[in-house]
Amino acid sequence: MPVNIPDNLARIRERIKHLEAQYGRAPGSVQLLAASKAQSPEVIRLAHTSGQLHFAENYLQEALAKIAELGDLKLAWHFIGPIQSNKTRALAEQFHWVHTVDRSKIAQRLHEQRPEALPPLNVLLQVNVSHEATKSGIELAELPELAREVAALSRLRLSGLMAIPAPAPDFLAQRQAFALLREARTTLQNLGHLSCQHLSMGMSADYEAAIAEGATMLRIGTDIFGARPGSSAPAAASSKAP
Ligand SMILES: *Cc1c(COP(=O)(O)O)cnc(C)c1O
Repeated sequence: MPVNIPDNLARIRERIKHLEAQYGRAPGSVQLLAASKAQSPEVIRLAHTSGQLHFAENYLQEALAKIAELGDLKLAWHFIGPIQSNKTRALAEQFHWVHTVDRSKIAQRLHEQRPEALPPLNVLLQVNVSHEATKSGIELAELPELAREVAALSRLRLSGLMAIPAPAPDFLAQRQAFALLREARTTLQNLGHLSCQHLSMGMSADYEAAIAEGATMLRIGTDIFGARPGSSAPAAASSKAP
């Protein structure tokens, strides 16, 4: 069956509403970001027609081409990929949110390069909650120090935390990983970082657990757009199999 993006978006929004109620979350407190890597500008336009305004991209060159192409739309762009320190200027100039800050050198450069005419750049600190050697993200123990440094940079706003936990065997294990990020946010808020409110966590395969643990931003690709072009991953429905 061909992928029906408007139907998928409507179904996911319904499910989010339902899960907000089920887990005692305030209505509207969970925001849906469309993870649009590998999707064409035409596909993004179609999602926008269905009311989707927030898009999340992983690869800078690919993202910049789409941002330029879609400049006639009022979209909010989130960067969720690894950051190379020599590529920060375009992030500072073109994006509204950067979710993957995990070292002070990157934060410093984004601060220096954020244009004065724009509001401070919304920054989330990426945390390696699964202690994966290969994953980017800062260790929990180092988070207060990085938060202190970012909070001192006037052109950045320390808006929250982000994680991509390792695939977990079951729902409870998914929740445990997300709970670590929620607890880290509490720690930072207790240190006075009151702007640190967002939890960017939850993808197609684990967003119910993320909502249960307080996610405010879900990054969903496959369930909206279907399996990515060129990807050998199974289609959306089967990615949620236990
Ligand atoms: C691709 C991607 C997503 C979306 O993943 P799906 O499983 O397709 O929903 C979310 N977050 C990050 C960082 C990604 O790279």
